[in-house]
Amino acid sequence: MNTIDVSRPVPQPNEVTRPFWDAAASHRLVHPRCRSCGRTFFPPHLCCPHCRASDWAWEEGAGRGTVHSATVVHRAPQPGFAPPYVIAVVDLDEGHDLMTNVVGVDPHAVRIGQRVRVTWLEVGEHVLPVFEPDEEADA
Ligand code: ZN
Repeated sequence: MNTIDVSRPVPQPNEVTRPFWDAAASHRLVHPRCRSCGRTFFPPHLCCPHCRASDWAWEEGAGRGTVHSATVVHRAPQPGFAPPYVIAVVDLDEGHDLMTNVVGVDPHAVRIGQRVRVTWLEVGEHVLPVFEPDEEADA
């Protein structure tokens, strides 16, 4: 008998990504910053994608950014998702981007250039960074 896992996929941290997920568990959004060229990047890699240096460190971000692109998903890829929902690329103020969800708003109201801030989605024992409209930025 086959067993179908009907839960939402959750992160599978590895040696490089574990600090990110550990920080997320305590509601801190972190990213790598290269000590050679000074730029941020995401997702974490062994080497900086800008200059190939391997000397980088984790840094905590403010969790604020701008919607770079967004799409509304109307058909769940598998059980565990509740369409309609938004998949977006958010440009973080620290200079890198992050693929995420925008929540807490009508999915069709999300717009490119909209200011958003991080909030946290708990999926079982995992905590995922998602974004919501930044009310302070819109005020
Ligand atoms: Zn670099």
